[in-house]
Amino acid sequence: MGYNVAIDGPAGAGKSTIAKRVAKEMGYVYVDTGAMYRALAIYFLKKGLKPEETEKIVEACKEAEVTIGYEEGMQQVYLNGENVTRMLREEAVGNMASVSSAIKEVRAQLLELQRELARTKDVVMDGRDIGTNILPNADVKVYLTASVETRAKRRYLELQEKGVECNLEEIAHDIEERDHRDMNREIAPLKQAEDAVYVDSSDMTIDEVTEAIKALCK
Ligand code: C5P
Repeated sequence: MGYNVAIDGPAGAGKSTIAKRVAKEMGYVYVDTGAMYRALAIYFLKKGLKPEETEKIVEACKEAEVTIGYEEGMQQVYLNGENVTRMLREEAVGNMASVSSAIKEVRAQLLELQRELARTKDVVMDGRDIGTNILPNADVKVYLTASVETRAKRRYLELQEKGVECNLEEIAHDIEERDHRDMNREIAPLKQAEDAVYVDSSDMTIDEVTEAIKALCK
């Protein structure tokens, strides 16, 4: 069994930035589970499916295999053998993943892959249900969050830096919708595990959050 650090929280809380930093500084492997849901979403979009076509998504899911590799320490995601890492952050992919991740069969498809990685490696795994469902015995559990305003602003600045036209209010609205879907779905909803440490990063720097989480690790 590897040493397991689980970081859960809502969209835009800074999970991946922090998890990557903690993994690098502690010598653990970073596992981004959102990327796995996004890879399946790419498959559904490639098949021309819409997020509301649940039955077709369940069928399509059986043909899609997601695997993970590492190149220079960076997680790479393969969909039926093809490296789809560069497509993962597209807006349409995020929208599809946010809806299709509520489907039981979609979650079941990724469960073993996630558990297997944690069994064989020391990992920092981020997602929505890692501490509650995937790794209930994780050595360290963190629930990382921030206010909607802070999360929207961070996303806004990130998009602006990339030169993407965006609107702060629309981003905040989108974040609230995603939170609602993640927290209210029937299977593995986003919630703080009883034994998770609650970290609100609204008024903390990346360094401060990283240090706070590292202090919880062995
Ligand atoms: O974190 P990220 O935005 O990349 O995740 C994409 C989508 O996958 C999220 O909107 C969320 O609904 C879903 N997800 C999930 N469980 C996880 C990780 C992500 O349901 N462990």
